[in-house]
Amino acid sequence: MVAEQSKASGRQTQYAGLRFRMAIIIVMVSLGSMVLVSGTILYQFNIFSNQMVNAHLGELVLKHKQNIDYFLKQRLNDISHLFRSFDLSQLQDKEFLQQRLKVLQEEYSYVFVDLGLIDQYGRQVSYAGPFELLRADYSSAEWFQTAIKRPGFISDVFMGLRGHPHFIVTVKRQWGGSEWLLRATIDFVAFNLLVENLAVGKTGTAFILNRSGEFQTRPPGGEPKLTKQQYLNLFKKGEEALSTKRPSDGIHFMEGGETHFLEGYIDRYTQTSSIFSVEKMGERGERFIIVAAFLKNNEWLLIFQQEAADAFAKLKETQKMAGLIAFIGAVAIIGMAVIMSGRMVKRIAELDSEKEMMNQQVIETGKLASVGELAAGIAHEINNPVAIMVEEAGWIQDLMGEGLDKEDNLPEAKRALQQIETQGRRCKEITHKLLSFARKTDSRVQTLQLNELVGEVVGLLSQKSRYANVEVQMELQPSLPPIEASATEMQQVLMNIFNNAVDAMEKTGGRITVTSRAEEQHLRLSIADTGPGIPASNLGRLFDPFFTTKPVGKGTGLGLSICYGIIHKMGGRIDVESQVDKGTTFHIVLPLGSQAAKS
Ligand code: ADP
Ligand code: MG
Repeated sequence: MVAEQSKASGRQTQYAGLRFRMAIIIVMVSLGSMVLVSGTILYQFNIFSNQMVNAHLGELVLKHKQNIDYFLKQRLNDISHLFRSFDLSQLQDKEFLQQRLKVLQEEYSYVFVDLGLIDQYGRQVSYAGPFELLRADYSSAEWFQTAIKRPGFISDVFMGLRGHPHFIVTVKRQWGGSEWLLRATIDFVAFNLLVENLAVGKTGTAFILNRSGEFQTRPPGGEPKLTKQQYLNLFKKGEEALSTKRPSDGIHFMEGGETHFLEGYIDRYTQTSSIFSVEKMGERGERFIIVAAFLKNNEWLLIFQQEAADAFAKLKETQKMAGLIAFIGAVAIIGMAVIMSGRMVKRIAELDSEKEMMNQQVIETGKLASVGELAAGIAHEINNPVAIMVEEAGWIQDLMGEGLDKEDNLPEAKRALQQIETQGRRCKEITHKLLSFARKTDSRVQTLQLNELVGEVVGLLSQKSRYANVEVQMELQPSLPPIEASATEMQQVLMNIFNNAVDAMEKTGGRITVTSRAEEQHLRLSIADTGPGIPASNLGRLFDPFFTTKPVGKGTGLGLSICYGIIHKMGGRIDVESQVDKGTTFHIVLPLGSQAAKS
């Protein structure tokens, strides 16, 4: 019973292992391909959306850069036009200049703060505007030194005499052998708006920087994020980009040289259409995307900066979403693998037990055939004692007819009765043996002594072998370790093999030698006969069900196939050696019982 349970639990772990392996394979195959496909898609998507974000920011910065360029160009054009349209004497008139300023302001919504006419020595000779700047002397101002040398000029943003950020634009003209500058102040707020408009997401802001690292517009909200040096390095970076002149950058670098054609000069002064982008680490380790463009003859840099995390927020969201979907997919696949493997293994277990039941039925059928064969022999065996009993009973009757009180008759009758009892007991023993064999096969495993079992079977067949003139020789190793097997099944195996041997030698007679011996971890039982042997062509089919060379009605061809099934179920081996005209030997190798194996 214990052995039965351990066999069942062994099966159970076998099925559990099978199920585990199935589930693992399903999961690996499905998850593997899912990971591969979605990984590739995500990777491509990452690259694509990175490019999209960069392209979008690039375009935005370029557009703003063009707006700023256009703004500066227009302001230069405005005063250049003014300068060329009127006479020096007119412009020297303060009233006239005031009038022109008003027209400009009305036209351009107060972008111009004031106007001034300056002679070549830096003296302001005429002024229109809100400040008291007439006669102001700019001869030592830095911007004047530069402006007087150029047809047109745009200054950096500075505080100047007013203590309020502004910048100026100037154009130069010749009159009567001396040079004159027309100067206009540009409203900082209006200019600043152009740049502040460029805001993206939560952290994307823009500002303008000059080559000394001074902000030309209001710096982005809060701290500038990068160090001044980092910002200044951007100029170098940009120039490198310009000098390599990669066409994909669309970079043009303009020399701010002198020219007689003011229009062309202004165009070149204000049109540098290069943008470039870099990635920088902020002071606190946050990654920034920086897109920058040169302005104003490369003197200014329009810088747009945004935290990478902010710029790629959409992408991150998509990644999270994809991750979630992949996770759900994985859970679904694992669930499916668990359920499917469970079902498959259940089905396999069902098939296994069906097969086992069928085996059991075949064994039963085969045994009935053996019982039939046995019955003939047994009938002979019972015949003898019954004849003796009949004889003795007649003898007693005769004695009783003579009278039991006659001398010697009583003891003689007693002997006859004794004989009847002996023979009756013999009959009982024989029928008992037959019955014990014909009993329904009990496949429960128990601890058995192989030698005892061999003795029983040989006993059961003694009549049949005697009849066929077959001598049975037993060479059993004494005190063999026990085996674990079903007694009735084992009995049937031996019965089949002995029966075959006796059948083979039916006509000629011969000898069966049974040898048992213990080997390492095994018992070996060999049953050798001196029969006709088995031709090589039949050896391969010997254990096939329904293979028989016996006439219809005598052989079923099931015997050896049943033996094979039983021995293999026990974890043992059965094989055959045969030589035609010499004899056949069947070897059965059985694993030792678990108790014996342990001790
Ligand atoms: P069956 O006995 O019903 O024919 P088995 O499966 O027991 O079926 O045996 C199959 C065949 O193997 C037999 O018909 C016989 O030809 C051959 N065979 C088995 N044992 C022996 C043996 N000891 N000597 C010769 N032939 C044998
Ligand atoms: Mg047989």
